[in-house]
Amino acid sequence: MAILRNQEIRLALLTILLFNAGCAVSRRAAPVEEKPLIIQPAAPSEAPKELKLPEKVKIGLRVGMSEIKISCEAKIIVRDIDNKTRQEWGAGHYRFAVANRRLFVGGIPRGKKLLLASAEQGHHLQIGPKPYRGEIILTMVGGKFNVVNQLSVDDYLKGVLPREVGPTWAKESLKAQAVASRTYLVSHLGQHGRDGFDLCSDVHCQVYGGVDKEHPATNTAVDETRGEVLFYKGKPIKSFFHSNCGGSTEEAEHVWQIEHLNYLPRKKCGFGTANPRYHWVKDISNSEILRLLKAKTRVTGTKLVSIQIKMKSGSGRAEKVMVKTDTGVFTLKGNNFRIALGPEAIRSTLWTNLKKLRGSYRFEGRGWGHGVGLCQWGAKGQAEHGRGYRDILEFYYPGTQILIW
Ligand SMILES: [Zn+2]
Ligand SMILES: [Zn+2]
Repeated sequence: MAILRNQEIRLALLTILLFNAGCAVSRRAAPVEEKPLIIQPAAPSEAPKELKLPEKVKIGLRVGMSEIKISCEAKIIVRDIDNKTRQEWGAGHYRFAVANRRLFVGGIPRGKKLLLASAEQGHHLQIGPKPYRGEIILTMVGGKFNVVNQLSVDDYLKGVLPREVGPTWAKESLKAQAVASRTYLVSHLGQHGRDGFDLCSDVHCQVYGGVDKEHPATNTAVDETRGEVLFYKGKPIKSFFHSNCGGSTEEAEHVWQIEHLNYLPRKKCGFGTANPRYHWVKDISNSEILRLLKAKTRVTGTKLVSIQIKMKSGSGRAEKVMVKTDTGVFTLKGNNFRIALGPEAIRSTLWTNLKKLRGSYRFEGRGWGHGVGLCQWGAKGQAEHGRGYRDILEFYYPGTQILIW
């Protein structure tokens, strides 16, 4: 990382400066012309001008709604986007409902696309009991409406970070997560373009919960890394991250149907063992396994005969799993097998033991998550050992550069 090299040079200069200062004290040298050596904080360079980070992002909160309650303790500014009208509604609760393909409030039609904003800073719009920063957009799609939260990138990240990491974690690990989450957002903008927003608010994209779960520590991590995005060869990276790698991260192509990415290597990571859920065990009955596989994969049959690891990846993950039933043999990607059985039940594909019991299977493994990119518990461990967030990011995404966007 170019930034790191600069940091090393600055450290060397600082060492020379301190060494000289020490000498000066001991031999009481004659005053020399003092040239202040300014140790600049390692400022990342600017991203290319043509790459423009949007001022605001659109996060999908609900899809296909026919009714919703929105409230605010301040006045609400309501814009009808199609008819370009603007109204000010008093503070209070409002029930939006669909009739004749239009949004109604209090029996009066209000349009097909509405943008709502609080008229006063510090007062947030609330959907049910949950407050949100920024604006709320209600858009009719077919006979229902979608609810979208439009807000600045960093306000969004403040609602994401507490869902990804513990606010009491070492500061540098929170900052590493802030940069990884911001980069993830940037490289997934427009993911849900067809539904009229950028990212959804659940695990499919990044879990986002509005103001409710914000914490001063994670907010500070967002503020102190303002605009910082990870780049590789001029493009924002796919900054995948997961809870705990279980001892080694994995290259993306051994987990998903995806091309090899140089900045997502397999890395030994022994920093996440403090996680109380580092080891896990799960028993699932044969009938439940078969039911889930039939629902979510191309597996068929009425009886589960066997499950075997067909191929292991370099980090020891079940890369391919062979499922035998009374109607055939099916080879599945390990990660697809895991997702079908439930990512909470089978926490990783890093299985240390797969045991056939009477009428069920016992899965034992390490870590939690897909294992690609940044390991959050590993980042925590590294930060506790005094490593800075840029070193942590360089460890999990080597060869990348942080640019200010
Ligand atoms: Zn999504
Ligand atoms: Zn790890």
